[in-house]
Amino acid sequence: MPEPPILNVDDYAPGRYARTRILRQIGLPVLEASTGSQALETVERDRPIIVLLDVNLPDMSGIEVCRRIRENPRTGPITILHISASNTQAKHQVLGLDSGADGYLVEPIDPAVLIATVNAYLRARRAEDALLRSTEELRWFSYRVAHDLREPLRTISIYAELLGQETAQANPKAAGYLNFITGASARMSSFIQSLLDYSQAAEVRSQFVAFDCEAMMTRVIANLDAAIREPGAGIAWDPLPEISADLRLEYVFQNLIANAIKYHREGVKPVIHISARRSADEWTFSVCDNGIGIEPAYLDRVFEMFRRLHGQSVPGSGIGLALSRKIVEAHGGRIWIESEPNAGSTFFFTIPIRIVT
Ligand code: ADP
Repeated sequence: MPEPPILNVDDYAPGRYARTRILRQIGLPVLEASTGSQALETVERDRPIIVLLDVNLPDMSGIEVCRRIRENPRTGPITILHISASNTQAKHQVLGLDSGADGYLVEPIDPAVLIATVNAYLRARRAEDALLRSTEELRWFSYRVAHDLREPLRTISIYAELLGQETAQANPKAAGYLNFITGASARMSSFIQSLLDYSQAAEVRSQFVAFDCEAMMTRVIANLDAAIREPGAGIAWDPLPEISADLRLEYVFQNLIANAIKYHREGVKPVIHISARRSADEWTFSVCDNGIGIEPAYLDRVFEMFRRLHGQSVPGSGIGLALSRKIVEAHGGRIWIESEPNAGSTFFFTIPIRIVT
């Protein structure tokens, strides 16, 4: 694959020419643009690996060009280095970096420094790309494995069930064994479904829509009906807002509430309370239970994939909290726990406030 180019954007021809020459001398492919709109077109068409971006362009500022490159999901990850001969004060550099640039160079730039800087960013980009590729391969691998396991498992469970029906009268013992097989198949099937959900969570981009938390609670309570009735759980919630969120946020609420019921104390009815608090820029939701609680050493670790603290007596796959964290982080939020062993836990998560588009 040919090396992706570096895009050198400057309306001042002699400066642009000098920079291009220096980079071509060390064998790097360089494209040029002299206006913001030309730069945006080239970025979209040629996908450069690095953009050297003059801050003062005739049609729009480099800061604006940078913002538009970042906004576009296809070009967002490109490395952007601002270059300026006139906006050289600390406040200009801070503005450039805060607006999304990865670096800010001030003219005059010594050729050796330009080469070393570009090489350093290229090293970082290549390492990041390799990491992204291997994460993607791993995600695809787990997706394929989970997906391909589903079909044979479905066959096993259907035929075990049929065999169970056939033998129920003649051989109750065999029918009992077949029951174990169908039970184990059902657990494996829900585990595989969680794995698929997890591997897809990374792939699907969040789509923010109007998300009515009150309506969502009604659905979650209906979905968990059997799990709520069995231990006689009491679930209450404060008035909940309408926010802008991805529909997958419902999974987070449902998983936290299901866990709050599952991990109750022996002989103590689960009492669960859901709240929402608004600050200037985010909502903080909490799900509070009176269950078995979590030891301080595990408060972060329960969000790891497959991490389970309480043995096999309670059914589960250890994926729910890992997936919940992924979904919350895809919203730009955080998730954490406060807990006292043998008294209860409160799970908190934040969702930044957005305007619904
Ligand atoms: P699962 O419930 O399928 O095991 P999760 O990822 O949802 O997987 O949870 C991971 C682990 O965190 C659980 O196995 C349990 O040990 C612990 N945990 C989760 N929620 C609670 C809770 N409300 N109270 C106590 N422990 C909890």
